[in-house]
Amino acid sequence: MIRKNVFAMAAVLATALVLPAAPAHAGQPASGSLPAPLYAQLDSQYDRVIADLIRITETPAPPFKERARAELFAAMLRDAGLDDVTIDDEGNVLALRPGTQGAAAAGPVFAVAAHLDTVFPEGTPITVRREGDRLMAPGIGDDSLGLASMLVWARLLEANGIATSQPILFVATVGEEGPGDLRGVRHLFTKSAYAGRIGGFLSIDNADAGRIVHAAVGSRRYRLAFNGPGGHSYGAFGIVNPMAAMAGAVRGIYTIQVPAEPKTTYAASVVSGGTSVNSIPNQILLEVDMRSGDPAVLAQLERAVLAAAEAAVAGENVARSTRTGSITLDPQLTGDRPAGTTPADHPLVRAALAASQAAGFAARLDESSTDSNIPMSLGIPAITIGTGAGGGRTHSVDEYLETGRGRFVAGLSVGLSVILAQTNPAQLNALSQGQ
Ligand SMILES: [Zn+2]
Repeated sequence: MIRKNVFAMAAVLATALVLPAAPAHAGQPASGSLPAPLYAQLDSQYDRVIADLIRITETPAPPFKERARAELFAAMLRDAGLDDVTIDDEGNVLALRPGTQGAAAAGPVFAVAAHLDTVFPEGTPITVRREGDRLMAPGIGDDSLGLASMLVWARLLEANGIATSQPILFVATVGEEGPGDLRGVRHLFTKSAYAGRIGGFLSIDNADAGRIVHAAVGSRRYRLAFNGPGGHSYGAFGIVNPMAAMAGAVRGIYTIQVPAEPKTTYAASVVSGGTSVNSIPNQILLEVDMRSGDPAVLAQLERAVLAAAEAAVAGENVARSTRTGSITLDPQLTGDRPAGTTPADHPLVRAALAASQAAGFAARLDESSTDSNIPMSLGIPAITIGTGAGGGRTHSVDEYLETGRGRFVAGLSVGLSVILAQTNPAQLNALSQGQ
């Protein structure tokens, strides 16, 4: 079905590309694979997109506390002209734009998603600052820009009455970042009203419109609790210490050899615990992150990490006295993101590469851990692409976005081109003829 739609669109887009360019904004790049009048409309929405972006960014969405931003975004989707907007049991915002033609309209939906949550805890100051073409604020690119992009696309589809054969489901997910463990997108594909109905998935995440993520890096994350009897640092000197076991575990983990291809990694990343400076602690927590594109390699790495921790615990129980108790290991799985791939020659991937290239970006394939992990692991075609004109310092309070108009609008055009290429809009022909 998707393959057929792409071929149908190829003819439409070919027509669009030979038409004279619309009145261009100064320095505006080529209209990419959008019909020139539609591209001009996208350009004319620039100020509105920036205003939306600032409003979304300044509405905090810490992990597990996305509700305020979800309600704002639901209202903005209604404002964009969509009627069927709901917030599901997990907290995702869903907006269905019905399809128009027969079997396609009743068949699978094409989902377009961006995530609501940020990595920043409650209370992080978020005021967008401007320095020339740069906008700066925590979370502005990851992923407020994805949300603002979806809004402008929905507005343009509605304003032009562009009917698509296939229904489009706009989704703002909760829980994409670390602690959320993809809970929003997992719910969407396994428990929501749309489970089993999504035929293709386009995630908008990051500000690099040249980057097309078609492979999902899988990850397993643990919180390893090293528990022991604890005691007075002076009075109980000589008893086992969970801190020493944790240190031994870190040393052991860092002797594990992993393949370079597929890229496989681990990190001992957070440590906490202890009672006071004059106490032998009774608990130390160590958080560990493991990733690989190959599920079998990831499983092997997981076994090796747990074995290293067990060996360190056994070593500590031999090295010092267990007269008041011994060290035990309590591993808790805190993150589980499945691996998966959408083949590089799949029409969805090819459409994204073509749209990105046509808009003037250095289009390339990449792999990452995003909302697309879940559909990819289920065998549903999915990609994650960027939007806008680039940025940096993601996941830091110095996060910034480049918002120079020409390139920014070119970046916004990529996702809309992919949506149109996948959902078979009949009216695009008319639009490209200036009606
Ligand atoms: Zn993100």
